[in-house]
Amino acid sequence: MKNICLLDLNYTLVGNQADTRLLRPFARRMAAEEYRADLIEAIRDDYVIIVTARPDYQMRQTMENIKKKTGWQPDEWYFNDINGEPPVFKERALKNWIFPKHGEQDGPEGAHYYAVESNPKTRAMYKRYGIEAAPYDMFMKKRLTPQPVMAQEPECFQLKMF
Ligand SMILES: [Mg+2]
Repeated sequence: MKNICLLDLNYTLVGNQADTRLLRPFARRMAAEEYRADLIEAIRDDYVIIVTARPDYQMRQTMENIKKKTGWQPDEWYFNDINGEPPVFKERALKNWIFPKHGEQDGPEGAHYYAVESNPKTRAMYKRYGIEAAPYDMFMKKRLTPQPVMAQEPECFQLKMF
């Protein structure tokens, strides 16, 4: 089983989105933009794919900025190449690039996806593909709270049966 994190950028990995999103030029925005170190720590053992509604012409500077400021990089990244609404672009990324490469949710390829995602409409889209999605604060709360083992086992057992 390969755990794959579908990581949102705006309002998720970016901790100060509201304060920085309108800064111009883009280089000034990059200088001010900060990334959540606790979130990176929580997902760094998984295979991480950034899927973001941020336009693809801002991809190079953004990815360099993340690397420079955190010392970390995800395994893959997809930026919005169609200027589409977040759930529309992200569904396109799933169907056209991510599923063909890694397989569908809990398929024979062994991929188990989860998402950290701020947009409720995008979370609903992920859910249609069987992908659990939580916003940053809920995700971190869940990661920090030990899950009762007994409560989880029936779910795992069911997944194996079908
Ligand atoms: Mg977001």
